[in-house]
Amino acid sequence: MSSKLLKRVGRTFSVRLSLWYAAIFTLSATILFLLVYFLLATAVQRKDREVIESHLKEYAAIYQSGGVSALRSWSSREAQKEKSFFVRVVGRFGNVLFLRAPEDWIQFEPPVLEFGFPRRVVWVRIPKDEERDFTLATQPFSDGSILQVGRSTNSRQLILQPFRRNFLAATLPILVLGFIGGAFIAYRAMQPVREIVSTAQSIIDTGDLSRRVPLRESEDELDQFARLFNRMLEKNQSLIKTMRESLDNVAHDLRTPLAGMRGTAEVALRSAPDQEQLKEALADCVEESDRVLTILKTLMDVAEAESGAMNLSLKKVDVGALAQEVVDLYAEVAEEKKITVTTSVAAPCEAVVDPARIRQVFANLLDNALKYTAEGGQVKIQAQRDTSEVLVKFRDTGMGIAPEEQGKIWDRLYRGDKSRSQRGLGLGLSLVKAFVEAHHGSVEVSSQLGQGSEFTVHLPA
Ligand code: ADP
Repeated sequence: MSSKLLKRVGRTFSVRLSLWYAAIFTLSATILFLLVYFLLATAVQRKDREVIESHLKEYAAIYQSGGVSALRSWSSREAQKEKSFFVRVVGRFGNVLFLRAPEDWIQFEPPVLEFGFPRRVVWVRIPKDEERDFTLATQPFSDGSILQVGRSTNSRQLILQPFRRNFLAATLPILVLGFIGGAFIAYRAMQPVREIVSTAQSIIDTGDLSRRVPLRESEDELDQFARLFNRMLEKNQSLIKTMRESLDNVAHDLRTPLAGMRGTAEVALRSAPDQEQLKEALADCVEESDRVLTILKTLMDVAEAESGAMNLSLKKVDVGALAQEVVDLYAEVAEEKKITVTTSVAAPCEAVVDPARIRQVFANLLDNALKYTAEGGQVKIQAQRDTSEVLVKFRDTGMGIAPEEQGKIWDRLYRGDKSRSQRGLGLGLSLVKAFVEAHHGSVEVSSQLGQGSEFTVHLPA
């Protein structure tokens, strides 16, 4: 393995997690070992003391009832049984009144301790050699004498040694086990992250935006992360799709007016250099280019609204008042066509909307109503508030829309057969639909040919 690869592996999250896991595992095992050792050493010491203490009590009772002579006769009787115990009675002035010591205690001079009251048993533990200790209990009496009972006990070292040896032998397997366990857990835990990385990598490599991270239904943080990642991919995919479609549409929609402009200019160039004709051709070109610019702007607005990327300056406004503003704006047009426009607003009709965009929606609907209604007709605008939405209706007594056309009028650049005599780009209703839907609302039409049409805008309140 090259050093670069080793460095990269060392830097991976899984390896670091495994190392941490192994370290924590080893530390926990050490603490457990120390605890067991401590408990064991304490238990052994307690057991040693219990044995010595029971003898101490026995000797004390004999000494107190019959003095040193009783102790001596009892000792000679039980000599065989009690040979492992050290027994000594020291008088008030430090004179030894009674002594019986096992062989290994002969060279050893146990300390005579000075006592005052309270008369408590005092314990001394003196290391003898590597394997054994002397444990000595001293009981003071009220006459100033003391009784000492001792015994050789296993040294701490003796208990610690196998522990130390076993612990060192166990450390390596614990470390390896910890690392393997950690590696396994880290590998499993990092699986969703690896899947996210591989999905992102495959999208970058293949450009296939439909790839998604497989989900595990575990609802943990990583699963939530994968879900969010998928949602982000979905949003990106739909944005890119809309952008591509918009680009195709723009290219397609601009071809006709641009070809018209080119045709006009070509004819003018080929014809005789007549000033008037040239002026007319230029005026046509200006008109066509205005048309192209309007188409471009509207198409971009529609695409922006449809992609969900439109910035709305939302405000709480009275939608009825917005409708009234638009009616006032079109008063002159209505008057010219002798169309009566009436407004009925059930106040208050408040909703949180972008006033500029909703004004544009109402203007397009009123413009159509006036455009497709014959002279002397009527247009009624009605605004009302429901429990959860504000409804604005635009009803006219115009030419109406054939049932087979009602589904198509929302498409970009669609123009009704009978509407071609009127000015228009066929973009008004697609803009209405896109803007209303950007507000999470909806728009619908009901119409009868020759009778009139009714467009209803639903805006969430
Ligand atoms: P434009 O009005 O520029 O043609 P629109 O997108 O606003 O484009 O409308 C699409 C088509 O829907 C129109 O060409 C027309 O046929 C039909 N339409 C829209 N509004 C009305 C209406 N109020 N009455 C009758 N037809 C309508």
